[in-house]
Amino acid sequence: MGTVQQINGYKRIPPFVEIMDSTLRDGEQTNGVSFLPHEKLVMARKLLSDVNVDRIEVASARVSEGEREAVSKICAYAQKKGLLERVEVLGFVDGGKSIEWIASCGGRVVNLLAKGSLKHCTHQLHKTPKEHISDILRELDYASANNIKVNLYLEDWSNGMKDSPEYVYQLMDSLVATAAIKRFMLPDTLGVMNPLQVIEYFRKMMKRYPDVHFDYHAHNDYDLAVSNSLAAVLSGARGLHVTVNGLGERCGNAPMASVQAILKDQFHAKTNIVESQLNDLSRMVESFSGISVAPNQPIVGENVFTQVAGVHADGDSKDRLYYNELMPERFGRKREYALGKNSGKANIAKNLEELGLELTPEQTRRVTQRITELGDKKEIVTQEDLPYIVSDVLKHDGSDEKVKLISYVVSTAYGLRPGANVKVEINGRQYDGSAVGDGQYDAFVKALRYIYKKYLNRTFPLLANYQVTIPPGGRTDALVQTVISWDHNGSILRTRGLDADQTEAAIKATFKMLNIIENEYSK
Ligand SMILES: [Zn+2]
Repeated sequence: MGTVQQINGYKRIPPFVEIMDSTLRDGEQTNGVSFLPHEKLVMARKLLSDVNVDRIEVASARVSEGEREAVSKICAYAQKKGLLERVEVLGFVDGGKSIEWIASCGGRVVNLLAKGSLKHCTHQLHKTPKEHISDILRELDYASANNIKVNLYLEDWSNGMKDSPEYVYQLMDSLVATAAIKRFMLPDTLGVMNPLQVIEYFRKMMKRYPDVHFDYHAHNDYDLAVSNSLAAVLSGARGLHVTVNGLGERCGNAPMASVQAILKDQFHAKTNIVESQLNDLSRMVESFSGISVAPNQPIVGENVFTQVAGVHADGDSKDRLYYNELMPERFGRKREYALGKNSGKANIAKNLEELGLELTPEQTRRVTQRITELGDKKEIVTQEDLPYIVSDVLKHDGSDEKVKLISYVVSTAYGLRPGANVKVEINGRQYDGSAVGDGQYDAFVKALRYIYKKYLNRTFPLLANYQVTIPPGGRTDALVQTVISWDHNGSILRTRGLDADQTEAAIKATFKMLNIIENEYSK
């Protein structure tokens, strides 16, 4: 009896994993990435205040004046918010110079870079282990004199454990004894480990130093950074190092969003990360770094919550047959249903439902057929195109366009501003307008704006973004695609137009938008 109760009453306490983000230090070592001081400040604020990451490593000491400015700004901000102990700077064993640099920026924590393999110690530093240890001890004294806390990196630790474990233990024995180091950080500097090795080496460390706080720092050269991070936690690591979008030298570091999802869903570990902020954070780092996230990158990739195959959308509406724990809402995102040649009826029905369009089963079948045909021709079909496909297919059902372009003239002449004369039909009545603008399309929109205001006394959506591209698929060189984002009463509406002429494509996109809002208006 007692035994059963003990077993039933036994609750495994989920481990807490501390997360250290190094986007602003290791992430900045991505080829071609360099952040400006104010960009670093904005990201640091997001990481600390919104995402609530436990610690951030923001720079390498003594690199440049720009870094000094960035670190000083971040420290001033963190100081004001009471978060200064969570801001860390990489420093070197350099006779106190890094420590002084960090102190002069207002920093309170150094992540000191020591050599974790005999090879690095001998061939890079040209020192004996004893000499290196005494240099580190001196550095600890400088830090304490400057009121700086110390975490220690054992650079190249993975190779150290493989080739020279005695060296690693010699270093650890002397340093643990000082009790002056808060965390020992074990990097797989060259990204050469696999999860089984992580478990083996970590257990050796844990057995010898059971009370030490170890961080694991993964690199992704074999695409194992996330798996190795999980292996480290399973073997006793109390902290993990990550970067946003997996930025970092070569193949980068472990991506924060993936590590978070795996820790939570697969290992039931606790972290302080606010998941609903992860997508925003990813977009921000994407734009500051200029490095795009792959569309199929888990959690933050553009396509990862888009269902294409109809059978999945069908499953979604039938008791969530394709459910997993990676729900888009968790990460501040939304599930989307793309239309293509694999779209089933359920997928199209979902999109129609979102647009508020009700069709009979026969009509849905015909729309589905049309989408499949377009998909075969490699045309891009999205939810915004759906009303056009619907009205195209159901022409005789009176679903004709409510807003039609009857005629227009746009003109450009040297020394004069471009102008446009436009005739449109709105709900069966025709209107004329003309305007000049900064370009042909600008003049065209101004003429429309004039008509909507003067004759209909209605507002016209604001142009929020305008992109001209060659359509994906590539073979239709003669065509340009214009994607326009409109701000319509605070919500964003995106339409596209395809034509050989850029202005014409923009006009098509504009009329798509006008018909969408006209249908809304006359509901
Ligand atoms: Zn690294």
